[in-house]
Amino acid sequence: MPHDELLHRHRAVMPGWLSLYYDEPIEITGGHGRHVTDGTGRTYLDFFAGILTNAIGYDIGEISEAIRSQLDTGVVHTSTLYLIRRQVELAERIAELSGIDDAKVFFTSSGTEANEAALLLATQYRRSNQVLALRNSYHGRAFATTGITGNRGWSPSALSPLQVSYVHGGYRYRGPLRGLSDADYIRACTEDLREVLATTTAGDVACMIAEPIQGVGGFATPPDGLFAAYAEVLGEYGIPFISDEVQTGWGRTGEHFWGIGAHGLTPDAMTFAKGLGNGLAIGGVVARGELMDCLTANSISTFGGNPLSTTAATATLDYLLSHDLQANAAERGAFLLRRLREAGRPDGVVGEVRGKGLMIGIELVEPGTTEPSPRAATAVLEATRAAGLLVGKGGLHGNVIRLAPPMTLTADEATEGSRILLDAIATTDKELTA
Ligand code: PMP
Repeated sequence: MPHDELLHRHRAVMPGWLSLYYDEPIEITGGHGRHVTDGTGRTYLDFFAGILTNAIGYDIGEISEAIRSQLDTGVVHTSTLYLIRRQVELAERIAELSGIDDAKVFFTSSGTEANEAALLLATQYRRSNQVLALRNSYHGRAFATTGITGNRGWSPSALSPLQVSYVHGGYRYRGPLRGLSDADYIRACTEDLREVLATTTAGDVACMIAEPIQGVGGFATPPDGLFAAYAEVLGEYGIPFISDEVQTGWGRTGEHFWGIGAHGLTPDAMTFAKGLGNGLAIGGVVARGELMDCLTANSISTFGGNPLSTTAATATLDYLLSHDLQANAAERGAFLLRRLREAGRPDGVVGEVRGKGLMIGIELVEPGTTEPSPRAATAVLEATRAAGLLVGKGGLHGNVIRLAPPMTLTADEATEGSRILLDAIATTDKELTA
């Protein structure tokens, strides 16, 4: 089928709010390692990896084999009303890896559902519908999770069932806390949190939820230690802290297995999804037993933790641990950060390069200002695509380029990708300052 026809049919039958990348959107029809092929036969180096779902890469032999052998049993799914060995074993491993005391795990099929489940637990546990979330956050597309998403562009309903207070702490390139040192920033954020708790909430807040590095928000990276300072304040009220690890989990940030590790904090609960199944749909919550077991009525997830997705997740976890992909993410990420920080001229389109491991954000600005430049981001996105590299976009204003390659990224691929990016940024710089 000609590509234009598919786009036309997509627009006719799919909702208008499902946005597509590129002037001429791509259909991905094949993949191997860190490369994908589109419907016209063009190959791209993928620095966005299916928006972090392909944590390891495409067509990974060990993972495909495991999935095939599960298919061969004839059991893709059975109800959670029966025992599922893979599910129990995977839950044990995630509980252990979480570092949470007496941890229990509930599986879902997406990050949204994982956060919905975490909110259900916290609100029930604390008998409160008040939630603290971060400005510039993204936690999902369902009713409660759009409510805790502090980014109007991704929060289509204003009718949240929760009372949400948004606090500082995610994004600091722009806004009233710009320019503060890390220590002053943490102090200002903590004071703000104290004030919100004392004056705008009833104090009996259900939970705070935060992404250790804000994904959709443009890989905004808070200073290490911020969330430990927050947890200390929350502890005075007995408020649980939930870390949304949907993007930051499984070693992607390089330094730590969970993004929250950078803050020296073990949260009360973590939510996860995306990369765990290396492309198969799986998500979940790992939480302190007391929090997990606070529900008294029955609850269920039909597809959560099904034999096929837990098999894929087990194989993914085996692969990333046995190949120490966390260390690879740290090494390749440090290289990319170093290279990209050389990008552009001092008063050009690059405002900031930030992130950890293989989560790198490039904040693009109107030349010589701190004004967001969505046009520069679009130009870089199109130029990199033309040169054979897929990258992402994000940020409140759609002006941040996001890099999240598979964690198996090689040194040569990191060099190649950064070269294409540096060229695209230089060209955009020239065009916008001409
Ligand atoms: N939390 C975070 C931090 C995310 O980035 C996302 C997805 N972008 C979600 C939750 C929702 O996950 P899903 O799309 O699997 O529902």
